[in-house]
Amino acid sequence: MKVTRREFLKLAGAIGASAVMMGYKSEILAIIEKAAATPGYTIAWLQGQGCTGCTMSLVQYPDIFGALGNLTVSVPFHPTIMPEAGHNAEEVLEDLEPDFLVVEGAVPIKDILGVDTHYCDVFGIPFEDLLVEVANRSEVVVAAGTCAAFGGIPAGNPNPTDARPVSEVLFRKTVINIPGCPAHPDWMVLTLVAAITEEPIVLDRLNRPIVFFGESVHEKCERLPFCKSEKFAKTFPSPEGCLFKLGCKGPVAYADCPTRLWNNETNWCVRAGAPCIACVYEDFPDKVSPFYEKLMMVLPPEPHVERHRHGKR
Ligand code: SF4
Ligand code: SF4
Repeated sequence: MKVTRREFLKLAGAIGASAVMMGYKSEILAIIEKAAATPGYTIAWLQGQGCTGCTMSLVQYPDIFGALGNLTVSVPFHPTIMPEAGHNAEEVLEDLEPDFLVVEGAVPIKDILGVDTHYCDVFGIPFEDLLVEVANRSEVVVAAGTCAAFGGIPAGNPNPTDARPVSEVLFRKTVINIPGCPAHPDWMVLTLVAAITEEPIVLDRLNRPIVFFGESVHEKCERLPFCKSEKFAKTFPSPEGCLFKLGCKGPVAYADCPTRLWNNETNWCVRAGAPCIACVYEDFPDKVSPFYEKLMMVLPPEPHVERHRHGKR
């Protein structure tokens, strides 16, 4: 069975009220169960220069194991959650031809005078080489989190390992970017389900699914009326007032956090009283630092949207 485009957009779209969100969650799980009718999908998950936060974000998804247990999707290789280790784990990866490759973390490519510096080796080989090898055997590549999508913290100044985003290493393949520090589990699960059900995923110029990353945090922020009336918070904590002068980077962060919410629809950064640090931004963290100082850069124009469709096949 397939998820129709209308169903996918309805599920993935920004729906605000938490009561609606509760129903929305159960609908996601129902859709995932629908995807169970699509047999035999395999996911390999590689980890490079990252903190495993995106994995933690995903495995805390409500009933993720129950949902995946109903799927004929398997994740035989995932360094954090797989039971195998050492040579046994290496053998699992050697035999895999995954439908989906999810990559977490950036890729160090630095060598010195032609000698590989081995900043990140997996099974004794540079992560960059392993990534290219497994990606060549995979149908769809998803970069999970800002480190994998854009380089993130490992690529921050002075970037001592010359860390790069996955797309710079796999330049011959389309890499679907799901930024975020961490990536929201909804963004990852819905993207994978859309790919499994061969639902076209509309990507923007940075290869992000538009449905999640098409609007800025600022545009949907509940404190926007304060911003428009120039009522700015001056100190923490401030339950009222726009946080722009306290460092909020919501105007340059494109993500649906204000309506999707985090931690099982509990809250999101600005509602919790913290400025958005634009963890999804393509130049995070360098161009949005210091986090608690007013944004000095000129605001970029609206992202140019290429109606590029990406299906599994
Ligand atoms: S708090 Fe941040 S995201 Fe919200 S209106 Fe102000 S600048 Fe925009
Ligand atoms: S509100 Fe900003 S800092 Fe918070 S998760 Fe969303 S993009 Fe990241």
